[in-house]
Amino acid sequence: MTASRDRARMVERQLRARGIEDERVLAAMGEVPREEFVPELLRDRAYTDMALPIEEEQTISQPWIVAAICQAMELEGSELVLEVGTGSGYSAVVLSRLVSHVVTVERHELLSREARERVAALGAANVELAVGDGSLGVPERAPFDAIAVHATAPAPPPALVGQLAEGGRLVVPLEAGDADVLTLYRREGDRLEAEPITPCRFVPLIGEGGFES
Ligand code: SAH
Repeated sequence: MTASRDRARMVERQLRARGIEDERVLAAMGEVPREEFVPELLRDRAYTDMALPIEEEQTISQPWIVAAICQAMELEGSELVLEVGTGSGYSAVVLSRLVSHVVTVERHELLSREARERVAALGAANVELAVGDGSLGVPERAPFDAIAVHATAPAPPPALVGQLAEGGRLVVPLEAGDADVLTLYRREGDRLEAEPITPCRFVPLIGEGGFES
């Protein structure tokens, strides 16, 4: 099967060679069929080192950035994780292999519906999909051990910070000059420690804790 060969090559050349060293993340990325999440016409590019367009003028993120986000969350397996920006559903399915439960929110109903079909087809039973403004989090499911935001925010959305468990990690791209900066926040009591991870480029987070549409 050429997809599995391409996927193994992606893991070695794009991920391991460029600083992804969490073996669980590498294994998950080596298993999830990315070609199922990209538009039919772009399937032959599913394992290239880039973001690709999906519907609603959104993108499925570059594989490396999905891996970098997962790695930054320091997941061990038993976590409840919130994902903001379901998009194609790819990152949610990768996450589903790393934690016990994933809640993923998307503002575009169409994207969420299509992602739901893919999630079901791949048997990822621990992924819960919701439609709405994910910048407000999902208060009724909080607190979360980790939160991943897949769209650029002007600042860490206060509602998301408030839904972090003690010791919880929030990974969010922040707007900063030419490039955005993927940033890791860790909640320690009332303190929030920030650590920049990498420059990056994402679509904007649209909503109350993000930008106006
Ligand atoms: N993780 C996705 C890529 C997501 S792109 C994947 O693997 O395919 C970012 C997504 O965030 C887009 O689909 C966009 O519609 C969504 N988004 C932007 N603002 C949002 C908000 N406030 N709440 C939920 N989703 C949002």
